[in-house]
Amino acid sequence: MPPDGDQGEPRAASPAGPDGPNARMSLARTAPDAHPLPDAAVAVSGLNKTYKRRKGADKRALVDFDLTIRRGELFGLLGPNGAGKSTLINILAQLVNKTSGNVKVWGFDLDREPRQVAAAIGVVPQELNIDPFFTPYELLDLQSGLYGVPRKERRIDELLAAVGLAEQREVYARQLSGGMRRRLMVAKAMVHSPPVLVLDEPTAGVDVELRQQLWANVRALNRAGTTVLLTTHYLEEAEELCDRIAIIGDGRLVACDTTEALLARLDHKEIIFTLAADLASPPAALAPFNPELQGPRRLKLHYHPSRTQMGEILSAVQGADLQIADLSTLETDLEDIFLQLTRAAREATVRQDPRR
Ligand code: ADP
Ligand code: MG
Repeated sequence: MPPDGDQGEPRAASPAGPDGPNARMSLARTAPDAHPLPDAAVAVSGLNKTYKRRKGADKRALVDFDLTIRRGELFGLLGPNGAGKSTLINILAQLVNKTSGNVKVWGFDLDREPRQVAAAIGVVPQELNIDPFFTPYELLDLQSGLYGVPRKERRIDELLAAVGLAEQREVYARQLSGGMRRRLMVAKAMVHSPPVLVLDEPTAGVDVELRQQLWANVRALNRAGTTVLLTTHYLEEAEELCDRIAIIGDGRLVACDTTEALLARLDHKEIIFTLAADLASPPAALAPFNPELQGPRRLKLHYHPSRTQMGEILSAVQGADLQIADLSTLETDLEDIFLQLTRAAREATVRQDPRR
């Protein structure tokens, strides 16, 4: 049975107890709850968002979008710029109104129970919007007040320690580094102990070391029971952190799978040989590598790094009596993969419904 909407106060503002799903880590406590915990932390179905534009065609930023994030998951939404990631996050955060579709967070319906949805979710937006004249302590105190967390239940020092900002407690935010501000935003999103944390491109523009720290924070929160949804346009980030990954392209869900299964699908590399002599056509022995002759002396082969050793390719090329002058390998560009998957998804949709 889904939780009712007539609870009055948002639940997350009630006292935290030792039996909550997040009891193992202090940063991520939620209140013990009479309601059964939902299986789906976030459930989105048939979601559409069309931005009206004064000039030019309206923009369909989300098109019949379906997504379910299970309780406890660390879930990655991966897609290129303009794919619709922030639109989805901003709908969940109630900063953008959806055009149509159903959205549930922690079992609460966005249309019927918006306050409960707000209490169940903490959002770290893509843009850093921290008032430079507040200290981290003041900022978290203010945010706790906004969420109606009673004074004696505020856990500001605990939150600051958890994101590694205890020493910066009284420093003006304008003096914090970009990475520190980002971590402060995570703490800010957690003041009301939401069971679901959403991060929109948390490491865009953050240097490698700080990225690692932020990842550690996110992982710790997730291990402690917080369901995490993050968006990114770095495959590496999703690969490193996430249990499951959805790929969004052009407002459409393009793929959704476990990280392992998805990476296997993306398991593709290219190697380019510069040959010492002209070649008229690729030798038959190289057929398993889908050879492409890109010039008389330029031969491109495709392979799956998980299945094929470089040595096999080199022996095949030498076995075909080709003299190699030079070689280089290419990682498949993520943008290319997005484009391929997106195009395939769109063609499939058009086939199903030619009116689109
Ligand atoms: P992402 O976060 O994946 O980069 P967004 O959700 O920000 O993508 O944007 C999706 C698409 O919607 C883009 O084409 C963007 O230009 C458009 N868009 C976003 N916000 C607005 C808006 N307020 N008005 C008009 N178009 C918008
Ligand atoms: Mg965005």
